[in-house]
Amino acid sequence: QAKRYGGDRIEPFRPAYKTIGSGRLQLEADLRRAFERNELSLAFQPIVRLDTESIAGFEALLRWEHPRRGAVSPSEFVPIAESTGLIVQLGQFALEEAAKRLSDWHLMTSDPTIFVSVNISSRQLIRQDLIADVRTVVSRYRLPPESLKLELTESLVMDNPERSAQLLARLREIGVGLSLDDFGTGYSSLAYLMRFPFDTLKIDQSFLRNNTQPQRPIILNSIVTMAHDLGLKVVAEGIESESDLNLLRQLNCEFAQSFLFSQPLTVDQARKMLLDQMGVKRAS
Ligand code: C2E
Ligand code: MG
Ligand code: MG
Ligand code: MG
Repeated sequence: QAKRYGGDRIEPFRPAYKTIGSGRLQLEADLRRAFERNELSLAFQPIVRLDTESIAGFEALLRWEHPRRGAVSPSEFVPIAESTGLIVQLGQFALEEAAKRLSDWHLMTSDPTIFVSVNISSRQLIRQDLIADVRTVVSRYRLPPESLKLELTESLVMDNPERSAQLLARLREIGVGLSLDDFGTGYSSLAYLMRFPFDTLKIDQSFLRNNTQPQRPIILNSIVTMAHDLGLKVVAEGIESESDLNLLRQLNCEFAQSFLFSQPLTVDQARKMLLDQMGVKRAS
């Protein structure tokens, strides 16, 4: 490795973790300030109905525009925010911002069935305030509660199944939607996960991206069939090919969220897409 940089000169060995470590510390400090400097925003990726290809809702995704580094991926900064506790503030920001946009879109389209789904992290779930926060935004923005959905991963609920079950039951009482995110990345059975009151299952991208396993149609079939038998709606994440699209249509999978339909959008782009869709409806 050392040779790549300096001919025959032997560079002292510098373990990779040192650079990663300090980069992370820097990023951690930057993230704290980013919040006050308005470097954080939400992107909205359309979730499309597979039968009509119209937009049913959006997933709200955090974005961070770092002044020097440019866009930092949430896969990089969300774990940092989780380990420092900052995710609580970021999560509240995402919830508030998503609810505000959703209420704008309901007014604009006169369609209160449009939904936005917001990712919830483990730190937020352990805090008692999550219930209060959700109640607050639902009433502040007068949202039909089912138009706000919360996404939780399998590993998150499995970390503390008892507490999760309690919390999810209380969220369900408020009436918000509950989606099981990244399904298939953990090891729990769908039967076990049905102890929790989810209404939607999101099939993880790993089943649909760069995946050429011949057994895949069988696996997708059994996931979708079982989800439907259990009364869940299904979102397929990250579909890449037309053949998978057709397969999921045949299986009556309700929704898709993938670059094939749309990248995550800015607020203005999302609004425009909804307006275009209304135009199409009026014209037809
Ligand atoms: P996720 O919740 O599973 O979100 C879906 C991710 O898949 C998004 O990445 C989205 O841009 C990406 N994606 C969707 N369709 C495609 C596709 O067809 N191809 C490819 N290559 N990617 C696709 P993103 O925005 O980078 O977010 C990554 C993860 O960061 C999210 O995974 C979620 O776990 C986390 N995250 C994002 N925003 C929040 C947030 O507000 N709170 C929390 N706790 N986590 C968040
Ligand atoms: Mg998600
Ligand atoms: Mg996901
Ligand atoms: Mg994911």
